[in-house]
Amino acid sequence: MSKIGSVMTPVGRKALLLGSGELGKEVAIELMRYGVEVIACDRYPNAPAMQVAHRSYVFNMLDGDELHRIIELERPDHIIPEVEAIATPTLLELEKEGFNVTPTARAAWLTMNREGIRRLAAEELGITTSPYRFASTREEFEKAVEEIGIPCVVKPIMSSSGHGQSTIKTPDDIDRAWHISQEGGRAGAGRVIVEGFVNFDYEITLLTVRSCSGTVYCEPVGHIQIDGDYRYSWQPQPMSAAALASAQEIAKKVTDALGGYGIFGVELFIKGDQVIFSEVSPRPHDTGMVTMISQDLSEFGLHARALLGLPVPAIRFYGPSASRALVVEGDTDKIEFDNLEKVLAEPGVQLRIFGKPEVKGHRRMGVILATDTTVEAARAKAERAYEALSVNVLPR
Ligand code: AMP
Repeated sequence: MSKIGSVMTPVGRKALLLGSGELGKEVAIELMRYGVEVIACDRYPNAPAMQVAHRSYVFNMLDGDELHRIIELERPDHIIPEVEAIATPTLLELEKEGFNVTPTARAAWLTMNREGIRRLAAEELGITTSPYRFASTREEFEKAVEEIGIPCVVKPIMSSSGHGQSTIKTPDDIDRAWHISQEGGRAGAGRVIVEGFVNFDYEITLLTVRSCSGTVYCEPVGHIQIDGDYRYSWQPQPMSAAALASAQEIAKKVTDALGGYGIFGVELFIKGDQVIFSEVSPRPHDTGMVTMISQDLSEFGLHARALLGLPVPAIRFYGPSASRALVVEGDTDKIEFDNLEKVLAEPGVQLRIFGKPEVKGHRRMGVILATDTTVEAARAKAERAYEALSVNVLPR
């Protein structure tokens, strides 16, 4: 499939995005740059990608029947999962019927759930991970904690952005960790993974692109997570040659096993020269938003190009860059990003406002991007811009 016909005609290409958040919005924009018709789906109206798509559908993507109905109705050339919470068994069926799922239905299915991808990496591919156990009941959980030992990290097998995740540092934390995990999972109470705590020196996302021209890697993205949610990322993370080679080798093994075309965010913990696999997203990664300023093609541009079946022979890196997530707290449908003349006063700073319709609790609403001569300078510049920003949370 290396030709693209006129948009919205029988010869055009049609892509259906399952998930319409800030990452999906950028993918939608990149697909449109190739004249692709974009249909955005999510569980709530006016989601970021819907605001730039040709059409949208609002429904629960975990509902397999509804997912099937919409895909049969639209018959897209590309089905592009942008979140994990999708009825992935339906994607497996649709792929068998001949639909094209990015990167593959199996990749979406395996990575929807921490157990699928962990068992594939550790047990089938023999890749080093933290020690782990799975538990479905309180009794199994206590046994798992005992076997793994303290400190350990507890996460619902179906969760992201730190929801339901906590670290057990002393035996007093065990009860609390169980309750957090049962309240924070995507599908409500359920199975958890208990992982040995990895005392890493730093963690990276290795953005890995599989396209018809083979596999290429972005410069490693370093990041800091707070409560399991990303707040700062930068590129390139300095690494020893041995650690980088090992990171690329692991990324190749995992992404080859998942197959298909697109970008993958391979999350790795690094200690000295040792690389420990954590997880992988078969789609752009939140920490990779830094590539919107650091590369000729961002992770979203790379994803679009690869999934359309076009070659990605190389990635041009422009230089040290950083991102700072804008997480807003409150309960509102009206926020103002204020003082922007100061935020954007320095050269080499950019701002993205995602356009999410409301905040309940805390929500990532935007990102500041900065570029400079070193990673330290880029991070400091992003932080100065962040400090200059004021966010007005107005009453509903
Ligand atoms: P995850 O949702 O699995 O990506 O976890 C979110 C973040 O929690 C990671 O990026 C790490 O900063 C931290 N984390 C997760 N698992 C572990 C672990 N086994 N040991 C230490 N930190 C962890």
